[in-house]
Amino acid sequence: MSNGTVIVTGASRGIGEAISRELAAAGFRLALVARSADRLAALAAELGPGGEVQAFPGDISDFEDVQRIVKEVHEKFGDIYGLVNNAGMTRDGLFMRMSPENWQAPIDINLGGTFYFTRAVAPIMMRARIGRIINISSVIGLTGNAGQANYAASKAGIIALTKSVAKELGSRGITANAVAPGFIATDMTADLPEKVQAVMLGQIPLKRFGEGKDVAGVVKFLLSQEASYITGQTLVVDGGMVM
Ligand code: NAP
Repeated sequence: MSNGTVIVTGASRGIGEAISRELAAAGFRLALVARSADRLAALAAELGPGGEVQAFPGDISDFEDVQRIVKEVHEKFGDIYGLVNNAGMTRDGLFMRMSPENWQAPIDINLGGTFYFTRAVAPIMMRARIGRIINISSVIGLTGNAGQANYAASKAGIIALTKSVAKELGSRGITANAVAPGFIATDMTADLPEKVQAVMLGQIPLKRFGEGKDVAGVVKFLLSQEASYITGQTLVVDGGMVM
């Protein structure tokens, strides 16, 4: 499988960039997706100077854009072995003050984007009778969190979507699993006040924040032959924060 094609969304930075680095080193052909075309092009040139890693800029919350990207990837690389739905965002705020717009944004991008990509890629995987879908959820989708009702709902939705897809597509040789990271040091968590970060660190038995490569290693495992009998699961990668 290591020369199969994998789409990684949210590849321009953070966890998605770490996943891309890990999978490129493992020999996968990669299609990198995010809105920042320049960052994506630079990463593709660095990881795949021979054209085996390519940038496909676009917005995952726009179904037409997603269909265009998947068509281009299919034309360029042929069958698509893996899909890593990693792109995501937060729009934090107290539930009692949350506007409908702020509720909708993470639902559209995190959950909608995951649905759109899975919907567009599934027919290609079904024809090939093999495929691996890996959706990046969050421990917040399991526990909920004050100030993140919208994000928590989007990430819980991703887990339910993953299980449903696993049940619908299993007979076609396709697995679907979720990965639920805890606190991973990226742009997404950099803005949290030091006090909040200290409290969170106190709740992590392994006494360190996660790094992108902690998540990337689990994604690589889920793409491997060793993981071929795992589907519908949510793997928590959080240093023991949630048990
Ligand atoms: P990040 O550093 O903020 O990166 C987010 C990525 O998603 C970027 O590449 C961004 O690229 C892309 N993206 C956002 N909206 C997009 C859109 N509409 N269309 C296309 N791409 C879009 O976040 P991260 O910390 O790496 O998080 C990655 C994933 O892990 C997210 O799903 C997040 O919810 C999840 N997660 C993170 C943590 C954590 O502690 N960091 C914990 C649990 C779960 P552009 O801006 O270039 O479009």
